[in-house]
Amino acid sequence: MSRTSPTTPTPPSPLATRLQGIGPTIFSQMSALALRTGSVNLGQGFPDVDGPPSVIAAAVEALQHGANQYAPGPGVPSLRQAIARHQQRHYGLELDPDTEVLVTTGATEGVAAALLGLVNPGEEVIALEPYYDSYPAMLQIAGAVCRGVRLRAPDFRLDVEELRAAVTPRTRFLLVNSPHNPTGTVLRDDELAALAAVAIEHDLVVITDEVYEHLTFTGHRHTSLATLPGMAERTLSLSSAGKSWSFTGWKVGWATGPAPLVAAVMAAKQWLTFTSGSPLQPAVAHALDHEPDFPGRLAADLEGRRDLLCAGLAAAGLPARVPEGTYFATTDISHLGWADGLDFCRSLPERAGVVAIPAQVFYDDPSAAGPGAQLVRWAFCKTPETITDGLARLRSADLQR
Ligand code: PMP
Ligand code: GLN
Repeated sequence: MSRTSPTTPTPPSPLATRLQGIGPTIFSQMSALALRTGSVNLGQGFPDVDGPPSVIAAAVEALQHGANQYAPGPGVPSLRQAIARHQQRHYGLELDPDTEVLVTTGATEGVAAALLGLVNPGEEVIALEPYYDSYPAMLQIAGAVCRGVRLRAPDFRLDVEELRAAVTPRTRFLLVNSPHNPTGTVLRDDELAALAAVAIEHDLVVITDEVYEHLTFTGHRHTSLATLPGMAERTLSLSSAGKSWSFTGWKVGWATGPAPLVAAVMAAKQWLTFTSGSPLQPAVAHALDHEPDFPGRLAADLEGRRDLLCAGLAAAGLPARVPEGTYFATTDISHLGWADGLDFCRSLPERAGVVAIPAQVFYDDPSAAGPGAQLVRWAFCKTPETITDGLARLRSADLQR
């Protein structure tokens, strides 16, 4: 006899309400699909070549020489000092490594700990839509209200009027991401100035995710929001070694800013992970101090791969917006007859042997009626051979609905 009969009620979901409605990340789903189908993975943003060998050697050295027990909660001093020097070198920001720098387990933990440590339930946070997926998830977990200000296709610029209109008496934070994932927009000085003006006028705290700070292309330059007049005292900056030094699997990131903001992030971080992995911290300190030119070389190299991808996509009938930074390009697929980019991306392994990311999942309304429904994101942090292989597959596939 069957142990379940048609009348057996479905057990209630054990999932806490704070997580309900938040699905598994699109990146895990799409990378699993790529593995399962043997597809070229132009989806999840991780490079297929590792960062500098000297940094790996520093990690091995640390592993072999005793860096194997808990690091101090805020991070090992040598890394905090190296992060302070990095902020000084690139942005002229003077930070106290003991109170204004915190090592996090990737920028992902930086985002989580910042939102849990700073935002009260019911407070409103303005963020740029499309959102990197951890933002809406963590805002929901924190009980915050997310107010999206859209970077509109096709050029994905900030609409300053829309930004101003999004502020209410309950707004407390701006959550900014530039260079921006998924659009590849690098906010211009006038856009950053508008964000700063709104933050100052309404006394908002700014949380700025700058993980792609070094990955900008010819004619575009990243400006850290904390460097704008009146901003250092209200800005928490987040970054990570993952993108800049091609060690996405190491999950070493950092939060920097005024001591009270950093202390609030630490207050949450201590209960999430207590402390981040010991042997990787001296190695990342080595990267920051001794491989300072690596990110610039990576960006120059990525620019070639961006051009390879964008030219090839155009030739395959999938013209993409050429991004100013990050390692992602976006195509609007509506001319191919698809209403829904998720359907397109699900069918792409079978049609072409390629995996891409449906950008609609980064919008408040991820349905086929939503504003991002026909946008598809391609990653070009892959070898030229992998990109060329993916492009050849796309060119020979029938991509019409
Ligand atoms: N923010 C953005 C915009 C990202 O694209 C990513 C992905 N790396 C992260 C945060 C997370 O960074 P990390 O891998 O260091 O946790
Ligand atoms: N940031 C990477 C991307 O956008 C992926 C990170 C992740 O898998 N969580 O593709």
